[in-house]
Amino acid sequence: MLKNARFLMSNTDHTKCPAPNKPEFAFIGRSNVGKSSLINMLTDHKHLAKTSGKPGKTQLINHFEIDSRWYMVDLPGYGFAKANKKLKADWNKMIRNYLTERENLVSVFVLIDSRLAPQPIDIEFITWCGQLELPVTLIFTKADKQSQSKTSDNVHRFLDEMEKMFVEAPEFFVTSAMTRVGRDELTQFIEENVSD
Ligand code: GDP
Repeated sequence: MLKNARFLMSNTDHTKCPAPNKPEFAFIGRSNVGKSSLINMLTDHKHLAKTSGKPGKTQLINHFEIDSRWYMVDLPGYGFAKANKKLKADWNKMIRNYLTERENLVSVFVLIDSRLAPQPIDIEFITWCGQLELPVTLIFTKADKQSQSKTSDNVHRFLDEMEKMFVEAPEFFVTSAMTRVGRDELTQFIEENVSD
């Protein structure tokens, strides 16, 4: 189980991130998808990851070390409608470099709001990951916000979209930072992928 989480550093440059000597799991998604809440839920911290900032704030790659065994990475979200061109270009370059160059990256967790029908911006990002042959895992967030059948509906619609793009749809988890649904499954998945 996941016991001890500590913040290591924030970077804009992937070459200045911690030495890639531990398995690494990155979390990314549309702004407001619930990424900070999920990270805080997984690590049992109230404020390890900072909840939603405003568009235009500094975009950083945030590294946390978990149980001295693996790195959890909080990546800046995409999809600020109001973000300017320069900010988008900077995000793109930083994220592309990080995702393609980080040799210890085990999985990119892409967070998807389970309340919504498949969103073009998420599909677009995952398509991009697919083209870069990145190991994508989906995390549906905020499952407590609606009925299980509604969540299941949205999940399946999303997976249908994935089937158009991947030979095999990515693995997925349904979570809630509020009720802690999915926490055990997700930590088990990470455990299984962290080799001693
Ligand atoms: P981020 O921008 O992706 O880091 O999103 P946050 O973690 O800041 O969450 C955005 C908003 O959604 C906040 O108001 C959270 O309280 C809320 N939220 C996040 N996760 C959940 C969840 O699992 N259930 C519910 N009900 N609300 C959530």
